[in-house]
Formats: sequence, structure tokens, C-alpha cells
Amino acid sequence: MIYLDYSATTPVAPEALDVFVEAARRHFANPNSLHAPGVAAAQAVAKATEGILTTLGAENFEVIYTSGATEANNLAIKGFAMKNRKYGMHLITTPFEHASVTACFGYLQNLGFSVDLVETGPDGKVALDSLEHLMGEDTILVSVAAVNSEIGIVQPLAEIAAIVARHSHAVLHSDVTQAIGKMQLSFADIDLVSFAAHKFYGLKGIGVLLRRPEALLEPVIHGGKSTTSYRSGTPAVPLILSMEKALELAVSGLDAKIKRVDFLNQRLRHELSSIGDVVVNSPVDCVPHILNLSVLGHDADDMLRHFDEHGICVSKQSACSSGATRSETVFRLTGDERRARTSIRVSISHLTTAAEIDLFVACLKAGLS
Ligand code: PLP
Repeated sequence: MIYLDYSATTPVAPEALDVFVEAARRHFANPNSLHAPGVAAAQAVAKATEGILTTLGAENFEVIYTSGATEANNLAIKGFAMKNRKYGMHLITTPFEHASVTACFGYLQNLGFSVDLVETGPDGKVALDSLEHLMGEDTILVSVAAVNSEIGIVQPLAEIAAIVARHSHAVLHSDVTQAIGKMQLSFADIDLVSFAAHKFYGLKGIGVLLRRPEALLEPVIHGGKSTTSYRSGTPAVPLILSMEKALELAVSGLDAKIKRVDFLNQRLRHELSSIGDVVVNSPVDCVPHILNLSVLGHDADDMLRHFDEHGICVSKQSACSSGATRSETVFRLTGDERRARTSIRVSISHLTTAAEIDLFVACLKAGLS
């Protein structure tokens, strides 16, 4: 099998799996129990939480554990909007968000909030003057993904954060699910940050919402005591400990890993440039881990079947929107219906080899003949 779908999910790092298994054996007690094993589990969670914050350079945040990035996005957006609606009901986001963000804004719109999509440039980046123009007295929340999942567009978060910070009631939420382990990140002036472990070689079923103390939220999941009042449920101790390990591994040697992926991306782009029917949709300054391409005149489903028959795993759009007929993301970026209907996402990793890239290209060429 040639796996080129790392943005859908990653294989678990063996070290992170070992931590999970060991913690499941050792810390099965509920960390909210007052007996000795409960206290030991609570201490292990506290240590992992500290480790996560240190690794991310995010010491001023609270960690809220969730089931994944979808839940973290729901809590950030719906939770913040519902809690702060007395300050205003205007929300801003981009056309390049994941479904778990877009759907929250749709839900809030139905409740009477007004939602604006900021304008973006030809490279998909937020137009800062448009953001400046949209920000008003009643704007309470701006949500911008650090990296788009389908094309790999990297947003200018620092500049966006500086604009939002000038408005006293507004906070900035960033979905960094596709950015962790793919680029160096700074959370300066960002108030809410969401991500999931399974995108950086951790296990599925665990995610995080980082919250600055000033960003108050209405819980989305109500119930009993957890590690926080913002999200109830017995803390998933083994998943939490394992995520800390996965995160530590994901950021270690990051520059060298990015360099390697960049080399693979360049190789792929070079090979694709000589194939007549193929156009690359990802602008050149995207993360190198994601390369979106269109095979003009060839239905994306047929191409995916062709790759699958040859043991190659790639995606059409993002895994969460498979089934849709055209990629709205590619359409918004290119304005080209043909490209949007024939787009494929190849997502690569430092684990990918040059030979795998070459086999993908050979298989693509065979599918065209
Ligand atoms: N946000 C982004 C940018 C994603 O790529 C994904 C997954 O594809 C999600 C959120 C949802 O993540 P999860 O599957 O952990 O809920």
C-alpha cells in the first residue's frame, strides 16, 4: 500500500501507542476519584497537560480535552458565541474552513447571528483590508484555520491576530488541526485554538481546545466534573498521555521533517508539470504536505478508484466531505468548475519516500492512457 492521505489521518506513532497501552493498564482509575489510584491518574493528566502547553509554547492557555477537532471547533465557536452574544452577534470566518467550522457558523446564523466571509486573495489568503473593513463594534468572534485541509493554504495568522486584537470584544479562534507538525506555530494574540491528535501520529478520539482565561464559553456538553467546567465527561487518561507523546514527537526535528516533505512536494510538482491534463491547484506557498491537483476530463471518483485498485490511497476533497460532487474549496480558489469537479488531494509526510511519489505519478499517467 502507498498511503498518500496523511491529512485525512496519520498512522499512530509506535511510541504514542506504547504510552497509551501502558497508561490504560496503569491509570485506569477515574482522575476525579479521591482514592490513591484516582489521585495518581489526576497527577498523570496534570503532568501531560503541562507537557502539552510547554511543547506548544502556550503556557497562558487552559487545555480543554475533547473527542477531536470537530468537537473542539464546536465548543470554541458555538460556546463562545452563545456566552458572549450580549456584546454583539457578528461573526467572521473564511471560505476555506473545515466543515466542522462552517457548520457551526450555519447553525449560529439560524439562531440570528450574522456571519460574514472575509475576502481572500488569488492565493486563498485572507485579505487583511477586507477583515479590517468587516470588523465592527458588534463583532465578537473571528475564526480562521491556520492551514486549509484540502489545498494547504497557510493564513497570515499573526497579521489577522493583530487586527482582531484591536477590537476589545472580539476574539480570534484558529483551527490548527492541519498545522501542527507541518509548520512552526505561534499562538500570540490567538484566544482559542483547536486540534486533534490523529493528524500528528496520535490516536483517534482525542482533541484539544486551548482557551485563554478571558475567552469565556458556554459548554456544549453538559454534565459532571471533568478536568474543566467547559467540557464534562471522565477524562480519557490514556488518550491524553498518549497525545502528549505524539505532540512531543511531532514537533521534534520539525524543520528537518518539513525540508524533507518540501523536497518530495517539489519532486511531485516537477513530475506533474509535464502531464498535459493535470493542473496543480495548491498555490506554491502552501504547506508542502498537501498538494491538490485536478485531472481535467477525468472524474475524481474514477481516478480514486483507479489509484485504489493499484494500492494507492489519496482523497477527493477532504475525508469529511467525500461524496460531494464538486470541491467548493477548489471552486472558490480557482473559480473553475472543471477543476473543482476533478480535484484530488495528495497528502504526504516525512514518512513518504521518493519511490512512492514516483509510483503515484506512474499510476496517474497509466490512468490517463
Ligand atoms: N479541522 C480540520 C482543518 C481538519 O482537517 C479536520 C479533519 O479532517 C477536522 C477539523 C476535524 O477533525 P476530527 O476528525 O478530529 O474531528
